[in-house]
Amino acid sequence: MKKKTLLYIFLILLIFYYKNFSINAFSNNYGRVINHGPKEEKVIALTFDDGPHPTYTNQILDILKEYDIKATFFVLGKFAEAYPDIIIRQWQEGHEIGNHTYSHVDAKRVSKKVLYDEYKKTQEIIENLINHQPRLFRPPYGSFDSQALDIVEMHDSIIVLWSAHQDSKDWSNPDVEEIVNTTLSNIRNGDIILFHDYVYYDKSSTVEALKQIIPELKSRGYRFVTISELLNLNQQQR
Ligand SMILES: [Zn+2]
Repeated sequence: MKKKTLLYIFLILLIFYYKNFSINAFSNNYGRVINHGPKEEKVIALTFDDGPHPTYTNQILDILKEYDIKATFFVLGKFAEAYPDIIIRQWQEGHEIGNHTYSHVDAKRVSKKVLYDEYKKTQEIIENLINHQPRLFRPPYGSFDSQALDIVEMHDSIIVLWSAHQDSKDWSNPDVEEIVNTTLSNIRNGDIILFHDYVYYDKSSTVEALKQIIPELKSRGYRFVTISELLNLNQQQR
């Protein structure tokens, strides 16, 4: 077969796969993997990974409160255990809480049993605090395979990634301006924006960047929603 024909076949298969993937992700209440919301509406979901952090998470919660917006926190079981009051505060203030494993394992590099234990332990820690089990799972590094999918499906949950053009790499604590620019210059309807409330530095650029990003996006007419709200919006449109 000619190279060109092979390329066409490959492209057709790719389009077919992508179409099915998209439909699958939004065809029922919760699909399997999502990385964006509806593109027809000016809605955005802010998400924060790796916390709670004893200082920065509270600072972020203060900012969210000031602007009266809701976000989603993908927490680590070990930090939820260490800072239970922050999880309770997140929940009481109307934010959504997702599972990000107990100790930040790479789902593709551990056995199914280890992953299951990390997942389950974190579900239980969160449930003990807020009386509610998360239905969202974000695998660390966005890395997952069928064993992670099996586990979340067993728990009637979904895998939540983020919009690829919206990764500010704020975990590496770049300049505030860099985070602001990455977010604002790439913003699109339905974006799931990835931030980190836990950073291993003396000061969090994320906290400072949010003070610029949120009012600017609000003035551009964007509405901030949790991941579950983002999905319901999508469902309503179908
Ligand atoms: Zn993480």
